[in-house]
Amino acid sequence: MTLSRRALVQRGGTLALLLGVRELAWGATIVAVRVWPADEYTRVTIESDAELSAKHFVADSPSRLVVDIDGLELSPALRELVGKVGSDDPFIAGVRVGQNLPRVVRLVFDLKQHCAPQVFTLAPVAAYRWRLVFDLYPTTPPDPLLALVREKELAEQQAAAAVRDALGELIGRIDKPLPALPPAGPASAPVRQTPAPPPEPPAMAQSRIDRLVIVAIDPGHGGEDPGAVGPSGLREKDVVLAIALQLRERLNAVPGMRAMLTRDADFFVPLHQRVAKARRVQADLFISVHADAFFTPQARGASVFALSDKGASSSAARWMAERENAADLVGGVNLKAKDAHVMRTLVDMSTAAQIKDSLKLGSEVLSRIGKVGRLHKARVEQAGFAVLKAPDIPSILVETAFISNPEEEARLRDPAYQAELADALSAGVQRYFARNPPLARSRAL
Ligand SMILES: [Zn+2]
Repeated sequence: MTLSRRALVQRGGTLALLLGVRELAWGATIVAVRVWPADEYTRVTIESDAELSAKHFVADSPSRLVVDIDGLELSPALRELVGKVGSDDPFIAGVRVGQNLPRVVRLVFDLKQHCAPQVFTLAPVAAYRWRLVFDLYPTTPPDPLLALVREKELAEQQAAAAVRDALGELIGRIDKPLPALPPAGPASAPVRQTPAPPPEPPAMAQSRIDRLVIVAIDPGHGGEDPGAVGPSGLREKDVVLAIALQLRERLNAVPGMRAMLTRDADFFVPLHQRVAKARRVQADLFISVHADAFFTPQARGASVFALSDKGASSSAARWMAERENAADLVGGVNLKAKDAHVMRTLVDMSTAAQIKDSLKLGSEVLSRIGKVGRLHKARVEQAGFAVLKAPDIPSILVETAFISNPEEEARLRDPAYQAELADALSAGVQRYFARNPPLARSRAL
């Protein structure tokens, strides 16, 4: 039946028009099902060769999301979804799939907590066909500022515990009888060397900042958006997350500094939300970490970008910004969600001061990265990157290397090189703060 109906549709263009999209979807084939669990939200994607139409509702006791997909037969590909939900998924306890009516497939997601689901479709883009997306958000979204406060408290508790342990050990030593001295001889008795005090950490110590300085680190892409993929299959989203996690460690080790990641796992974060998260924690800096592809496999070296308010500094910079700004299309954003307009508002709010500070930050980072690897351009480039548009936060986007270059892909894969890049980024940030101490301001942290 599916075949004959399809054949009919293919035979006459007029007939296809009359039947409309709903009818055309009948007999759609499932290409893939994917699940992206994360603390922030879990996404389920059903990819098909034609647009699917779905209705959904949330039911209580027990909490569950019920989705009816029209014009679909139950297929083994769809059943795979059941096995793709991990037991550690923060939102989904399990999935049940069944043929509810002859032409309707029903999916029931048993939920672990109350959810505010968003269900939407995405038209074919990049390597993807049609996508039907279910995003399961918690009814109260996690607050990045609260998370940062908790992290800080935890770090302080750990530090206090370390001091207590050290004190306890010292007290234990006092209570112990002194070790017997070796018999006096011609040679002088060995003197116990007191270890030298650890060297003062650079930069931050000199600038005497009496508040916590917050750096937002933004690992590009994630989830449905792999970013660029290298000739041997290395994915940008994985490399930049690895570098970002190491950078967070480096910066958190600097006294008075704390790093916040816009994503700490493999899930997609829309561009405007990356900016919003940084602004929510009143970040002093924003660094977006990438490793993109270029037209030709020969392109090599790192680049640093800042925002531009009057066109791109080169056609390559403009091309790169357009490429990065397309992340939302590939990653998949629900355009009907109420916060989708935020980015458009931010576009007009960029200030000259932000760009000036971003260029300073950019050159500090560029000079450090230039010591680790080759540079693509010896100066900070500028273009209209959506993710750099926080009007009040100096923001840069770092292309650590070209993953499209086989040699650079191999380096990016190497954990030692990732560590060197994290060191360079951290040194650049510290150097920037040493030269441009953040202003005092009252904040809850
Ligand atoms: Zn990228």
